[in-house]
Amino acid sequence: FSRRCNLNTRSKTLFDAAQQVIPGGVNSPARAFGPVGGDPLFIVKGEGARIVDADGKSYIDFVGSWGPLILGHAHPEIVAAVNAVVAEGTSFGAPTEIEVKMAQLVTEIVPSVEMVRMVNSGTEATMSAIRLARGHTGRDKIVKFEGCWHGHADSFLIQAGSSALTMGAPSSPGVTPGTAADSITVPFNDLEAVEKAVVENRDKIAAVIVEPVAGNMGVIPPAPDFLQGLRDVTAEMGIVLIFDEVITGFRVSPGGAQELYGVTPDLTTLGKIIGGGLPVGAFGGKREIMSDISPLGKMVSQAGTLSGNPLAMTAGYETLKRLQVPGVYDALEAKAQALETGILENLKALGLKYQANRVGSIMTLFFTEAPVTSFEAANACDQDLFARYFREMVNRGIYLAPSQFEAAFVSLAHSDADIDATIKANYEALKACIN
Ligand code: PMP
Repeated sequence: FSRRCNLNTRSKTLFDAAQQVIPGGVNSPARAFGPVGGDPLFIVKGEGARIVDADGKSYIDFVGSWGPLILGHAHPEIVAAVNAVVAEGTSFGAPTEIEVKMAQLVTEIVPSVEMVRMVNSGTEATMSAIRLARGHTGRDKIVKFEGCWHGHADSFLIQAGSSALTMGAPSSPGVTPGTAADSITVPFNDLEAVEKAVVENRDKIAAVIVEPVAGNMGVIPPAPDFLQGLRDVTAEMGIVLIFDEVITGFRVSPGGAQELYGVTPDLTTLGKIIGGGLPVGAFGGKREIMSDISPLGKMVSQAGTLSGNPLAMTAGYETLKRLQVPGVYDALEAKAQALETGILENLKALGLKYQANRVGSIMTLFFTEAPVTSFEAANACDQDLFARYFREMVNRGIYLAPSQFEAAFVSLAHSDADIDATIKANYEALKACIN
Protein backbone atom coordinates (compact mmCIF):
# COMPACT_ATOMS: atom_id res chain seq x y z
CA PHE A 1 0.00 0.00 0.00
CA SER A 2 2.75 2.42 0.85
CA ARG A 3 4.24 1.77 -2.57
CA ARG A 4 0.83 2.31 -4.06
CA CYS A 5 0.35 5.40 -1.94
CA ASN A 6 3.52 6.88 -3.33
CA LEU A 7 1.68 7.02 -6.64
CA ASN A 8 -0.49 9.61 -4.89
CA THR A 9 2.40 12.01 -5.14
CA ARG A 10 0.43 15.24 -4.99
CA SER A 11 -1.49 14.06 -1.89
CA LYS A 12 1.80 13.06 -0.32
CA THR A 13 3.41 16.41 -1.08
CA LEU A 14 0.44 18.25 0.35
CA PHE A 15 0.41 16.03 3.44
CA ASP A 16 4.13 16.65 4.02
CA ALA A 17 3.51 20.40 3.84
CA ALA A 18 0.38 20.12 6.01
CA GLN A 19 2.24 18.32 8.78
CA GLN A 20 4.60 21.28 9.13
CA VAL A 21 1.82 23.71 9.95
CA ILE A 22 -1.29 21.73 10.95
CA PRO A 23 -1.04 19.29 13.88
CA GLY A 24 -0.97 15.83 12.33
CA GLY A 25 -1.58 17.45 8.95
CA VAL A 26 -5.35 17.38 9.49
CA ASN A 27 -8.04 19.63 10.90
CA SER A 28 -9.89 16.70 12.46
CA PRO A 29 -8.08 13.56 13.58
CA ALA A 30 -10.52 11.10 11.99
CA ARG A 31 -9.18 12.25 8.63
CA ALA A 32 -5.68 11.00 9.32
CA PHE A 33 -5.15 7.43 8.18
CA GLY A 34 -3.77 6.49 11.61
CA PRO A 35 -5.78 3.29 12.14
CA VAL A 36 -5.15 1.99 8.60
CA GLY A 37 -1.64 3.20 7.83
CA GLY A 38 -0.53 5.30 4.88
CA ASP A 39 -1.22 8.95 4.22
CA PRO A 40 -4.61 10.62 3.76
CA LEU A 41 -5.80 11.45 0.29
CA PHE A 42 -6.26 15.13 -0.43
CA ILE A 43 -9.53 15.74 -2.21
CA VAL A 44 -9.97 18.40 -4.87
CA LYS A 45 -13.49 17.79 -6.11
CA GLY A 46 -16.73 15.95 -5.52
CA GLU A 47 -19.61 15.24 -7.86
CA GLY A 48 -22.57 13.04 -7.00
CA ALA A 49 -21.28 9.84 -5.43
CA ARG A 50 -17.69 10.43 -6.52
CA ILE A 51 -14.69 12.32 -5.22
CA VAL A 52 -11.44 13.05 -7.02
CA ASP A 53 -8.10 13.23 -5.24
CA ALA A 54 -5.23 15.61 -5.83
CA ASP A 55 -3.64 13.13 -8.24
CA GLY A 56 -6.78 12.96 -10.36
CA LYS A 57 -7.90 9.53 -9.18
CA SER A 58 -11.66 9.11 -8.83
CA TYR A 59 -13.38 7.13 -6.05
CA ILE A 60 -16.91 6.05 -5.21
CA ASP A 61 -17.31 7.80 -1.87
CA PHE A 62 -18.96 6.20 1.18
CA VAL A 63 -17.84 8.89 3.62
CA GLY A 64 -20.00 11.70 2.25
CA SER A 65 -18.19 14.22 4.46
CA TRP A 66 -19.02 11.90 7.40
CA GLY A 67 -22.75 12.02 6.81
CA PRO A 68 -24.01 15.41 5.63
CA LEU A 69 -24.05 14.68 1.89
CA ILE A 70 -27.12 12.49 1.66
CA LEU A 71 -27.85 14.07 -1.75
CA GLY A 72 -24.27 13.53 -2.94
CA HIS A 73 -21.49 16.01 -3.62
CA ALA A 74 -22.13 19.36 -5.30
CA HIS A 75 -25.83 18.72 -5.89
CA PRO A 76 -26.57 21.23 -8.69
CA GLU A 77 -29.68 22.68 -7.01
CA ILE A 78 -27.95 23.13 -3.66
CA VAL A 79 -24.98 24.76 -5.36
CA ALA A 80 -27.30 27.10 -7.26
CA ALA A 81 -29.23 28.03 -4.10
CA VAL A 82 -26.05 28.81 -2.16
CA ASN A 83 -24.64 30.77 -5.09
CA ALA A 84 -27.79 32.86 -5.19
CA VAL A 85 -27.57 33.88 -1.52
CA VAL A 86 -23.79 34.37 -1.33
CA ALA A 87 -24.03 37.42 -3.56
CA GLU A 88 -26.51 39.02 -1.15
CA GLY A 89 -24.10 38.99 1.79
CA THR A 90 -22.75 36.09 3.79
CA SER A 91 -23.57 37.00 7.37
CA PHE A 92 -25.41 39.75 9.23
CA GLY A 93 -25.54 38.75 12.89
CA ALA A 94 -29.19 39.77 12.75
CA PRO A 95 -32.25 37.60 12.13
CA THR A 96 -33.07 36.51 8.57
CA GLU A 97 -36.16 34.85 7.11
CA ILE A 98 -34.38 31.63 6.16
CA GLU A 99 -33.80 30.93 9.88
CA VAL A 100 -37.54 31.03 10.50
CA LYS A 101 -38.23 28.78 7.53
CA MET A 102 -35.56 26.35 8.71
CA ALA A 103 -36.96 26.22 12.25
CA GLN A 104 -40.51 25.75 10.93
CA LEU A 105 -39.38 22.89 8.69
CA VAL A 106 -37.37 21.14 11.43
CA THR A 107 -40.25 21.36 13.90
CA GLU A 108 -42.53 19.86 11.24
CA ILE A 109 -40.16 16.99 10.42
CA VAL A 110 -38.68 15.93 13.78
CA PRO A 111 -41.40 14.55 16.06
CA SER A 112 -40.08 15.79 19.42
CA VAL A 113 -38.89 19.22 18.34
CA GLU A 114 -41.24 22.10 19.17
CA MET A 115 -38.54 24.78 19.21
CA VAL A 116 -35.03 24.70 17.80
CA ARG A 117 -31.86 26.76 18.07
CA MET A 118 -29.25 26.67 15.31
CA VAL A 119 -25.52 26.38 16.04
CA ASN A 120 -22.42 25.69 13.93
CA SER A 121 -21.47 22.09 14.69
CA GLY A 122 -22.65 18.90 16.35
CA THR A 123 -20.29 19.59 19.24
CA GLU A 124 -21.96 22.91 19.93
CA ALA A 125 -25.36 21.24 19.77
CA THR A 126 -24.60 18.54 22.35
CA MET A 127 -22.62 20.89 24.59
CA SER A 128 -25.53 23.35 24.62
CA ALA A 129 -28.14 20.62 25.11
CA ILE A 130 -26.53 19.29 28.28
CA ARG A 131 -26.05 22.80 29.66
CA LEU A 132 -29.73 23.44 29.01
CA ALA A 133 -30.68 20.15 30.68
CA ARG A 134 -28.55 21.08 33.69
CA GLY A 135 -29.95 24.60 33.86
CA HIS A 136 -33.50 23.37 33.45
CA THR A 137 -33.31 20.62 36.09
CA GLY A 138 -30.86 22.26 38.48
CA ARG A 139 -28.88 19.00 38.54
CA ASP A 140 -25.22 18.42 37.62
CA LYS A 141 -24.60 14.89 36.34
CA ILE A 142 -25.14 13.33 32.95
CA VAL A 143 -25.25 9.70 31.86
CA LYS A 144 -23.72 8.73 28.53
CA PHE A 145 -22.77 5.47 26.83
CA GLU A 146 -19.50 3.71 26.07
CA GLY A 147 -18.58 4.05 22.40
CA CYS A 148 -21.03 6.89 21.69
CA TRP A 149 -19.46 10.13 20.46
CA HIS A 150 -21.07 13.47 21.07
CA GLY A 151 -18.30 15.75 19.86
CA HIS A 152 -15.35 17.08 21.79
CA ALA A 153 -16.83 19.12 24.65
CA ASP A 154 -15.18 18.29 28.00
CA SER A 155 -18.23 16.58 29.52
CA PHE A 156 -18.19 13.91 26.81
CA LEU A 157 -14.47 13.11 26.86
CA ILE A 158 -14.98 10.88 29.83
CA GLN A 159 -14.65 7.13 30.23
CA ALA A 160 -15.96 4.86 32.94
CA GLY A 161 -13.89 5.42 36.09
CA SER A 162 -13.12 3.11 38.99
CA SER A 163 -16.50 3.85 40.51
CA ALA A 164 -18.08 3.86 37.10
CA LEU A 165 -21.67 4.19 38.26
CA THR A 166 -21.04 7.38 40.16
CA MET A 167 -18.22 9.17 38.34
CA GLY A 168 -16.02 8.92 35.27
CA ALA A 169 -12.38 9.56 34.43
CA PRO A 170 -11.08 11.97 31.75
CA SER A 171 -10.38 10.23 28.44
CA SER A 172 -8.29 13.16 27.20
CA PRO A 173 -5.56 15.23 28.78
CA GLY A 174 -6.91 18.69 29.48
CA VAL A 175 -10.24 17.47 30.82
CA THR A 176 -10.38 18.02 34.56
CA PRO A 177 -11.29 15.38 37.14
CA GLY A 178 -13.90 17.87 38.35
CA THR A 179 -15.69 17.68 35.01
CA ALA A 180 -15.28 13.91 34.87
CA ALA A 181 -16.97 13.61 38.25
CA ASP A 182 -20.22 14.75 36.63
CA SER A 183 -20.25 12.31 33.70
CA ILE A 184 -21.30 8.71 34.21
CA THR A 185 -20.49 6.27 31.41
CA VAL A 186 -22.41 3.00 31.08
CA PRO A 187 -22.40 0.29 28.38
CA PHE A 188 -24.58 0.88 25.30
CA ASN A 189 -27.67 -1.31 25.10
CA ASP A 190 -27.43 -2.05 28.85
CA LEU A 191 -30.62 -0.79 30.40
CA GLU A 192 -29.89 -2.40 33.73
CA ALA A 193 -26.68 -0.38 34.07
CA VAL A 194 -28.63 2.81 33.38
CA GLU A 195 -31.23 1.95 35.98
CA LYS A 196 -28.52 1.21 38.51
CA ALA A 197 -26.70 4.49 37.83
CA VAL A 198 -29.92 6.44 38.05
CA VAL A 199 -30.87 4.88 41.37
CA GLU A 200 -27.38 5.40 42.84
CA ASN A 201 -27.50 9.05 41.79
CA ARG A 202 -31.10 9.82 42.59
CA ASP A 203 -32.01 13.51 42.00
CA LYS A 204 -28.49 14.27 40.74
CA ILE A 205 -28.83 13.39 37.05
CA ALA A 206 -29.82 16.15 34.65
CA ALA A 207 -29.69 14.20 31.39
CA VAL A 208 -29.18 10.87 29.70
CA ILE A 209 -27.63 11.41 26.26
CA VAL A 210 -27.48 8.63 23.68
CA GLU A 211 -26.92 8.06 19.99
CA PRO A 212 -30.22 6.23 19.35
CA VAL A 213 -28.38 4.21 16.72
CA ALA A 214 -24.71 4.18 17.62
CA GLY A 215 -22.64 5.34 14.66
CA ASN A 216 -19.29 6.17 16.20
CA MET A 217 -18.21 2.67 17.16
CA GLY A 218 -19.41 1.41 13.82
CA VAL A 219 -23.15 1.07 13.38
CA ILE A 220 -24.85 -0.61 16.34
CA PRO A 221 -28.65 -0.60 16.44
CA PRO A 222 -30.44 -0.19 19.76
CA ALA A 223 -31.53 -3.48 21.33
CA PRO A 224 -35.30 -4.01 21.30
CA ASP A 225 -36.85 -1.86 24.04
CA PHE A 226 -33.55 -0.14 24.90
CA LEU A 227 -34.72 3.30 23.76
CA GLN A 228 -38.21 2.87 25.25
CA GLY A 229 -36.56 1.69 28.46
CA LEU A 230 -34.47 4.87 28.55
CA ARG A 231 -37.62 6.90 27.96
CA ASP A 232 -39.42 5.17 30.82
CA VAL A 233 -36.64 5.48 33.41
CA THR A 234 -35.84 9.12 32.56
CA ALA A 235 -39.53 10.11 32.64
CA GLU A 236 -39.92 8.46 36.02
CA MET A 237 -36.87 10.20 37.48
CA GLY A 238 -37.40 13.68 36.01
CA ILE A 239 -34.29 13.33 33.81
CA VAL A 240 -34.01 15.01 30.42
CA LEU A 241 -33.62 12.38 27.68
CA ILE A 242 -31.43 13.64 24.83
CA PHE A 243 -31.20 11.79 21.53
CA ASP A 244 -28.02 12.78 19.73
CA GLU A 245 -29.27 12.50 16.16
CA VAL A 246 -26.30 14.28 14.56
CA ILE A 247 -25.83 11.19 12.35
CA THR A 248 -29.30 9.62 12.41
CA GLY A 249 -31.35 12.81 12.01
CA PHE A 250 -32.97 13.03 8.55
CA ARG A 251 -31.07 9.86 7.65
CA VAL A 252 -32.55 6.68 9.12
CA SER A 253 -36.04 8.10 8.43
CA PRO A 254 -37.29 11.63 7.69
CA GLY A 255 -37.72 12.30 11.41
CA GLY A 256 -34.61 10.38 12.46
CA ALA A 257 -34.29 7.47 14.87
CA GLN A 258 -37.04 8.85 17.13
CA GLU A 259 -39.49 8.41 14.28
CA LEU A 260 -38.06 5.04 13.21
CA TYR A 261 -38.29 3.54 16.71
CA GLY A 262 -41.30 5.54 17.93
CA VAL A 263 -39.60 6.89 21.06
CA THR A 264 -39.83 10.61 21.84
CA PRO A 265 -36.88 12.27 23.62
CA ASP A 266 -37.10 15.59 25.46
CA LEU A 267 -34.25 17.17 23.51
CA THR A 268 -32.63 16.27 20.19
CA THR A 269 -29.27 17.32 18.84
CA LEU A 270 -28.78 17.60 15.10
CA GLY A 271 -25.93 18.24 12.70
CA LYS A 272 -24.49 16.97 9.42
CA ILE A 273 -27.50 16.69 7.02
CA ILE A 274 -29.17 19.75 8.54
CA GLY A 275 -26.33 21.84 7.10
CA GLY A 276 -26.26 20.22 3.67
CA GLY A 277 -22.45 20.15 3.80
CA LEU A 278 -21.97 23.55 5.44
CA PRO A 279 -21.07 23.95 9.13
CA VAL A 280 -24.37 23.62 11.00
CA GLY A 281 -25.72 21.98 14.12
CA ALA A 282 -28.96 22.41 16.03
CA PHE A 283 -30.61 21.44 19.25
CA GLY A 284 -34.30 21.43 19.92
CA GLY A 285 -37.12 19.80 21.79
CA LYS A 286 -39.91 20.47 24.22
CA ARG A 287 -41.09 24.06 24.31
CA GLU A 288 -41.01 23.99 28.10
CA ILE A 289 -37.30 23.10 28.17
CA MET A 290 -36.22 25.20 25.19
CA SER A 291 -37.89 28.21 26.81
CA ASP A 292 -35.12 28.24 29.43
CA ILE A 293 -32.47 29.25 26.88
CA SER A 294 -31.23 32.85 26.91
CA PRO A 295 -32.96 35.31 26.36
CA LEU A 296 -35.87 33.39 27.92
CA GLY A 297 -36.76 31.72 31.22
CA LYS A 298 -33.80 30.68 33.32
CA MET A 299 -31.46 32.34 30.81
CA VAL A 300 -29.21 29.35 30.21
CA SER A 301 -26.32 30.85 28.25
CA GLN A 302 -25.88 29.99 24.58
CA ALA A 303 -24.83 32.18 21.65
CA GLY A 304 -22.99 32.26 18.31
CA THR A 305 -21.66 34.94 15.97
CA LEU A 306 -22.34 32.87 12.85
CA SER A 307 -25.28 30.80 14.14
CA GLY A 308 -28.11 30.66 11.61
CA ASN A 309 -25.79 31.95 8.91
CA PRO A 310 -27.70 32.46 5.63
CA LEU A 311 -25.40 30.31 3.44
CA ALA A 312 -25.50 27.40 5.86
CA MET A 313 -29.25 27.73 6.41
CA THR A 314 -29.84 27.75 2.67
CA ALA A 315 -27.76 24.62 2.02
CA GLY A 316 -29.47 22.84 4.90
CA TYR A 317 -33.00 24.00 4.13
CA GLU A 318 -32.73 23.09 0.47
CA THR A 319 -31.34 19.67 1.42
CA LEU A 320 -34.13 18.98 3.92
CA LYS A 321 -36.77 20.07 1.41
CA ARG A 322 -35.49 17.58 -1.13
CA LEU A 323 -35.72 14.83 1.46
CA GLN A 324 -39.45 15.49 1.89
CA VAL A 325 -40.25 14.24 -1.62
CA PRO A 326 -42.29 11.01 -1.31
CA GLY A 327 -40.29 7.90 -2.07
CA VAL A 328 -36.87 9.38 -1.29
CA TYR A 329 -36.23 7.25 1.80
CA ASP A 330 -37.51 4.13 0.02
CA ALA A 331 -35.01 4.77 -2.76
CA LEU A 332 -32.21 5.27 -0.23
CA GLU A 333 -33.18 2.09 1.63
CA ALA A 334 -33.19 0.11 -1.63
CA LYS A 335 -29.66 1.23 -2.46
CA ALA A 336 -28.35 0.45 1.02
CA GLN A 337 -30.13 -2.87 1.14
CA ALA A 338 -28.68 -3.87 -2.24
CA LEU A 339 -25.22 -3.05 -0.91
CA GLU A 340 -25.77 -5.04 2.27
CA THR A 341 -27.19 -8.02 0.38
CA GLY A 342 -24.25 -8.03 -2.01
CA ILE A 343 -21.73 -7.89 0.82
CA LEU A 344 -23.49 -10.67 2.73
CA GLU A 345 -23.45 -12.81 -0.42
CA ASN A 346 -19.74 -12.14 -0.83
CA LEU A 347 -19.05 -13.14 2.77
CA LYS A 348 -21.00 -16.35 2.27
CA ALA A 349 -19.29 -17.18 -1.00
CA LEU A 350 -15.91 -16.75 0.68
CA GLY A 351 -16.92 -18.70 3.78
CA LEU A 352 -16.49 -15.65 6.06
CA LYS A 353 -18.68 -14.94 9.06
CA TYR A 354 -18.04 -11.23 9.58
CA GLN A 355 -20.89 -9.09 10.84
CA ALA A 356 -22.70 -6.45 8.79
CA ASN A 357 -24.81 -4.02 10.86
CA ARG A 358 -27.10 -1.69 8.95
CA VAL A 359 -29.84 0.75 9.84
CA GLY A 360 -31.17 2.46 6.71
CA SER A 361 -28.33 4.06 4.79
CA ILE A 362 -25.61 3.65 7.45
CA MET A 363 -23.72 0.40 7.64
CA THR A 364 -20.56 -1.15 9.08
CA LEU A 365 -18.84 -4.38 8.12
CA PHE A 366 -17.23 -5.57 11.35
CA PHE A 367 -14.28 -7.96 11.10
CA THR A 368 -15.50 -10.19 13.90
CA GLU A 369 -17.69 -13.27 13.92
CA ALA A 370 -19.76 -12.49 17.02
CA PRO A 371 -22.79 -10.18 16.79
CA VAL A 372 -21.82 -6.57 17.52
CA THR A 373 -24.25 -5.07 20.02
CA SER A 374 -21.86 -3.19 22.33
CA PHE A 375 -18.59 -1.27 22.40
CA GLU A 376 -16.90 -4.32 23.87
CA ALA A 377 -18.10 -6.47 20.97
CA ALA A 378 -16.98 -3.86 18.43
CA ASN A 379 -13.56 -3.80 20.05
CA ALA A 380 -13.17 -7.52 19.43
CA CYS A 381 -12.79 -6.79 15.69
CA ASP A 382 -9.62 -7.68 13.83
CA GLN A 383 -8.42 -4.15 13.16
CA ASP A 384 -5.37 -5.25 11.20
CA LEU A 385 -7.65 -7.10 8.85
CA PHE A 386 -9.87 -4.02 8.54
CA ALA A 387 -6.79 -1.94 7.69
CA ARG A 388 -5.87 -4.41 4.94
CA TYR A 389 -9.46 -4.41 3.64
CA PHE A 390 -9.54 -0.61 3.64
CA ARG A 391 -6.37 -0.44 1.55
CA GLU A 392 -7.65 -3.06 -0.88
CA MET A 393 -10.88 -1.06 -1.30
CA VAL A 394 -9.14 2.28 -1.79
CA ASN A 395 -6.87 0.68 -4.37
CA ARG A 396 -10.02 -0.46 -6.19
CA GLY A 397 -11.45 3.07 -6.19
CA ILE A 398 -13.78 2.77 -3.20
CA TYR A 399 -13.30 5.43 -0.52
CA LEU A 400 -14.32 4.31 2.98
CA ALA A 401 -13.83 5.88 6.40
CA PRO A 402 -10.27 5.00 7.49
CA SER A 403 -11.35 3.21 10.68
CA GLN A 404 -13.26 0.08 11.66
CA PHE A 405 -15.32 2.17 14.09
CA GLU A 406 -17.18 4.26 11.55
CA ALA A 407 -20.21 3.98 9.31
CA ALA A 408 -20.37 3.77 5.54
CA PHE A 409 -22.83 6.40 4.35
CA VAL A 410 -24.95 5.55 1.31
CA SER A 411 -26.33 8.60 -0.51
CA LEU A 412 -29.09 9.19 -3.02
CA ALA A 413 -26.35 9.87 -5.56
CA HIS A 414 -25.07 6.28 -5.49
CA SER A 415 -26.30 4.64 -8.71
CA ASP A 416 -27.04 0.96 -9.16
CA ALA A 417 -23.77 0.77 -11.08
CA ASP A 418 -21.91 2.35 -8.14
CA ILE A 419 -23.42 -0.20 -5.76
CA ASP A 420 -22.59 -3.09 -8.11
CA ALA A 421 -19.02 -1.86 -8.54
CA THR A 422 -18.67 -1.58 -4.76
CA ILE A 423 -19.98 -5.11 -4.20
CA LYS A 424 -17.51 -6.41 -6.79
CA ALA A 425 -14.64 -4.53 -5.17
CA ASN A 426 -15.74 -5.83 -1.77
CA TYR A 427 -15.51 -9.42 -3.04
CA GLU A 428 -12.06 -8.93 -4.49
CA ALA A 429 -10.82 -7.02 -1.44
CA LEU A 430 -12.09 -9.65 0.99
CA LYS A 431 -10.52 -12.37 -1.16
CA ALA A 432 -7.20 -10.54 -1.17
CA CYS A 433 -7.39 -10.14 2.61
CA ILE A 434 -7.79 -13.83 3.33
CA ASN A 435 -5.15 -14.99 0.86
N1 PMP B 1 -22.68 13.68 17.79
C1 PMP B 1 -22.56 12.68 16.93
C2 PMP B 1 -23.47 11.49 17.04
C3 PMP B 1 -21.57 12.71 15.94
O1 PMP B 1 -21.43 11.70 15.09
C4 PMP B 1 -20.74 13.86 15.86
C5 PMP B 1 -19.64 13.98 14.82
N2 PMP B 1 -19.31 12.90 14.11
C6 PMP B 1 -20.92 14.88 16.79
C7 PMP B 1 -21.90 14.77 17.73
C8 PMP B 1 -20.05 16.10 16.75
O2 PMP B 1 -20.34 16.84 15.61
P1 PMP B 1 -19.25 17.87 15.00
O3 PMP B 1 -18.14 17.03 14.48
O4 PMP B 1 -20.02 18.59 13.93
O5 PMP B 1 -18.84 18.77 16.11
